[in-house]
Amino acid sequence: NREFLLVNRPSGMPTDENFQLRTSPIPGISDGEVLVQTIYLSVDPYMRGRMSGIKTYTSPFELNKVLTAGVVGRVIDSKNNEFQMGEIVEGRLNWADYSVTSGKGLRKVDPNLAPISTALGVVGMPGLTAYFGLLDIGKPKEGETVVVSGSAGAVGTVVGQIAKIYGCRVVGITGSDEKNAYLKNELDFDATINYKKENVKEALKEKSPNGVDVYFDNVGGEISDAVMRLLNFQARIVVCGVISEYNNTEAAYGPRIQRFLLNRSALMKAYIVSDYYERFNEGYEQLGKWVKEGKLTYRENIIDGLENAPQAFIGLFHGENIGKQLVKVCEE
Ligand code: NDP
Repeated sequence: NREFLLVNRPSGMPTDENFQLRTSPIPGISDGEVLVQTIYLSVDPYMRGRMSGIKTYTSPFELNKVLTAGVVGRVIDSKNNEFQMGEIVEGRLNWADYSVTSGKGLRKVDPNLAPISTALGVVGMPGLTAYFGLLDIGKPKEGETVVVSGSAGAVGTVVGQIAKIYGCRVVGITGSDEKNAYLKNELDFDATINYKKENVKEALKEKSPNGVDVYFDNVGGEISDAVMRLLNFQARIVVCGVISEYNNTEAAYGPRIQRFLLNRSALMKAYIVSDYYERFNEGYEQLGKWVKEGKLTYRENIIDGLENAPQAFIGLFHGENIGKQLVKVCEE
């Protein structure tokens, strides 16, 4: 059983040196426990916060302990009546070939409904994040303009497509022309901005002539500073993530934004997807339905081999993924 430990805390951009791969025997299970073989491992930006050792809304990863992640895997041994051998499950398990779990928080995945990897993406945590943040906080109405930063990623692609389902004009902001071509050609976004090449404020003025009614923010920093200046009256700002700040060693200060909010009587609200835990089933159901109907499509960026999990994780901060970043650990 190969497993990754966090051996020191990153300062700035994470590196290979922060991780160590160790081999240990496949663990046995006791009464009530389940042994899961990892098929897909999810790497997510929030893990950077947990590596810092600072308490946020989740506890920090402990040094010299096995890292955890969203995993889709197969039950290969079970002493728990709720889970049978051969079943596909999803849960917070180890960055490892095998994990032992009590079954708490483990969700069964029906391989006949959708490809099992989607339980970590479009019909998983990122999909729920998009669904609840956009609909509950953003409250998009037909004809409004929704601007999404980080729009070619796991959350952003779902946000943009749901906004289209609700009849909105959607503008995506990413760091690459290839990503923007995907958003326009395959996901039907109305306009896109490449923040690495364009002045976001000027480009947004031109590409969002009716201003911004909903800003779904995945990145924070200067991109968001620019969007704030173009808000419409009673705009809603959904603070989902601030990936541009996760590797900062000092707090970043931008322009004071209160006056932009006040002038436009705007709402700015952050959230954590688990705030909506009680409604997860509604989210899974609706997202699954849209996928089945072809209204919600998705891409995955799959890297082969558990040994490459650190690279897949670090790649998130270099924009290497289009859609959900996954690591394939063994064959389905
Ligand atoms: P993504 O799949 O979007 O991957 C990260 C992307 O962020 C990269 O591909 C890159 O795209 C972009 N990025 C990286 N560094 C920067 C930077 N410095 N400035 C601007 N963009 C950058 O990740 P997710 O969809 O999983 O997550 C998106 C956001 O949502 C994250 O901030 C995450 O923390 C947050 N999140 C919040 C949750 C919550 O409960 N509130 C739950 C899940 C996610 P590009 O090429 O465009 O730069």
